[in-house]
Amino acid sequence: IRTLHIVLGDQLNEDSSLWDGFDPSQDAALMAEVIEESLPSTTQQDNGLAISSKQRTLLFFSAMRHFAQQMTQDNIPLIYWDIPHKIVSLSDALQQTCEHCSPTNIKAVLPGDYRVYNALNSWAKRESRSIEWLEDTHFLAQKGEFKQWMSKRKKPIMEYWYRHLRQRKHLLMDNKKPEGGQWNFDADNRKSFGKAGPTNLPIPPTFSPAPITLQAQKDIEKHLSELPGTLEDFNWPVTRSQALEALDSFINTRLASFGDHQDAMWTNEQTLFHSLLSSSLNLKLINPQEVVEAALVHYHAGHAPINAVEGFIRQIVGWREYVRGLYWYHRADWLTWNALEANQPLPDFYWTGKTHMHCMNQSITQVLQTGYGHHIQRLMVTGLFSLLYGVNPKAIHQWYLGFFVDAIPWVEVPNTLGMSQYADGGIVGSKPYIASGNYINKMSNYCKHCRYNPKKSSGDDACPFTTLYWNFVDKHQERLSKNPRLAMQVKHWSNKAPNEQQAIKEQTLWLVNHIQDI
Ligand code: FAD
Ligand code: SF4
Repeated sequence: IRTLHIVLGDQLNEDSSLWDGFDPSQDAALMAEVIEESLPSTTQQDNGLAISSKQRTLLFFSAMRHFAQQMTQDNIPLIYWDIPHKIVSLSDALQQTCEHCSPTNIKAVLPGDYRVYNALNSWAKRESRSIEWLEDTHFLAQKGEFKQWMSKRKKPIMEYWYRHLRQRKHLLMDNKKPEGGQWNFDADNRKSFGKAGPTNLPIPPTFSPAPITLQAQKDIEKHLSELPGTLEDFNWPVTRSQALEALDSFINTRLASFGDHQDAMWTNEQTLFHSLLSSSLNLKLINPQEVVEAALVHYHAGHAPINAVEGFIRQIVGWREYVRGLYWYHRADWLTWNALEANQPLPDFYWTGKTHMHCMNQSITQVLQTGYGHHIQRLMVTGLFSLLYGVNPKAIHQWYLGFFVDAIPWVEVPNTLGMSQYADGGIVGSKPYIASGNYINKMSNYCKHCRYNPKKSSGDDACPFTTLYWNFVDKHQERLSKNPRLAMQVKHWSNKAPNEQQAIKEQTLWLVNHIQDI
């Protein structure tokens, strides 16, 4: 064959640059389900690879197989290595394919994981071949745009990147001014649900498993049975038409309230007003441009307020594009950083959900079952605990990468190692996102069902978040006092009576020694 086109598992977009110039009479495509992307060996885990949960693996296999089915219907010649072939790595899949059909050229779109890019390049070097890397046109930012934007700045600040991209794409703009008169409506978007809780929550669509999904389930049970998590309750879009249905449902039933309750949490309510679109976006079943346009149409028709629409667009145009820019800017460095010198192992309850901390039990159990948690559960519950307890950044990174259905390194790594764990020393965010149990109490009803008391930092019912919060402030006071927003907390710590400080220190020691029982 003339050219072999590699379709990676998160590149399931028909409008990809991969297909430019594709000629079915002389070219072919390659797709592969390989063992190490789900079940890496221990040495590979040291290099940042993670064990992928059953739910996440099923999403990838099912979406890939549906995409392959469409390609076959479109008469695109395809070589597909499924998991029963037991191929270990993408390089092995490429090697075997080349032995089988001797392509003259190989093309691929830039992967979402720097490790994959390196591995395939190393294979090419070994085999004296070359891979032509194509631009990933799925994103709103153009090739080199982030790097150029960075070249004019000492420090990247998401807000300015967001304004830059919004202006260039002319999104939610009134000539040169932001629509609604301001760039940011975040101040309106921090409401809790109050005592009564959310009422009449819209129900997201359900997607009953197609035969392809059921077969992928069987294959995972047979060939990857050691993977953690469950295959039950699988309800993620695996085709473009399902992803469009999910988008439509979000826009029509949840977008209008997205802003108000963006940061709120509630017991046994996973979705609230969130979009559930990240896995479809990251697998490229839908693209950010159409998602943003759908939100804008709804806004211009008067069906959603500006704080909701701006808040949503900020996530896609701002955060999503920003973390991608930063991921590629720093590449392999991410996994070497540990600015806070955090070295605790990940507590076992991250794998089971078995803890008396109700907020953690809720947030973890949900991820184990569905592969999803919304942003505040990730940042201010599971991520916050890890940050305060001092879990080693690589260990918590592997947990997020392995369990969340939307986890691909370009987006998971800067969020976990940067925004959540501050391992980057302040690139993604200007300060560590720290809070005590009081924040969780304010934004949810979790504490009402918990045996701990968010207001207490020592004693039998002390909330582990609150104890560890003060311990963190004490431990990192030199760093924190340099930040005007956190210097106040250091002062509060210094003003505590010596016996109170001592009680918190003892409580922390107790926590560390009894971490599996809390
Ligand atoms: P919504 O709340 O409805 O937001 C809309 C969309 O905005 C999302 O679908 C997503 O595409 C985008 N978005 C929102 N926040 C971010 C962000 N911080 N970075 C990038 N995109 C964002 N997101 C992932 O897509 N994959 C990950 O692996 C991932 N890991 C994370 C790990 C940690 C520790 C934290 C704190 C955040 C992580 N995020 C990740 C960001 C965010 O939490 C998810 O994108 C969001 O919760 C997905 O749910 P949703 O689709 O319902 O999002
Ligand atoms: Fe979480 Fe503490 Fe509230 Fe319990 S009291 S739910 S541990 S924040």
